[in-house]
Amino acid sequence: MSVDYHGQLIDAALALNDSGINRGTAGNLSVRFEQGMLITPSGMDYADISAADLVAIGFDGRTRGRRKPSSEWRIHLDLYRAREDVAAIVHAHPPACAALACHSMPIPPFHYMVAVAGGKDIRCSGYATFGSQALSDEVLRAMEDRKACLMAHHGMIATGATPERALALAVEVETLAEMYSRCLAIGTPPLLSDEEMARVLEQFRDYGPAHGH
Ligand code: 13P
Ligand code: ZN
Repeated sequence: MSVDYHGQLIDAALALNDSGINRGTAGNLSVRFEQGMLITPSGMDYADISAADLVAIGFDGRTRGRRKPSSEWRIHLDLYRAREDVAAIVHAHPPACAALACHSMPIPPFHYMVAVAGGKDIRCSGYATFGSQALSDEVLRAMEDRKACLMAHHGMIATGATPERALALAVEVETLAEMYSRCLAIGTPPLLSDEEMARVLEQFRDYGPAHGH
């Protein structure tokens, strides 16, 4: 059975709104598709989009669709080009992530679940204007060996094997950002060591339901 990429992307866009981590028309989503990607249109309310509103952009830069693609299409396309492990991307402006990112603060290993983003911390990219190539370059640097990052004075990016998985990671990272902000309100939390985070990353390798279940 062939995969319904358009349906997967629209379902995740609606779920992103329902999750409450994003508000209004901020944020965008994409999925790897043919020799490139499918991405949400710029500035449209997800409640109003249908398959025909999604825009296909090839690695050769060719664009197909009746809508203008998300202003952040460069970040999405550059990530698919650079990272074979990435098959779906969610970009959002969740309040707790954005609060840390407005201070250019990464999320350090204050909690073992930080490893869910693929490493011992969740970096914060440098700032550049939204929609610019410079922002894409900053995000790609912050995403090295990671599945998610914060974006200075902006928001966050999360990736996954499907739009649903990328959204689940985005919700996880926002939860961590909320927890970390609460920790900072109490004081400076102690951090887990590099050795412990290496053990956690190892544990994560076979965490979750067994394959085929
Ligand atoms: P788009 O509506 O163009 O996807 O832009 C939203 C956004 O979050 C820009 O960073
Ligand atoms: Zn944005």
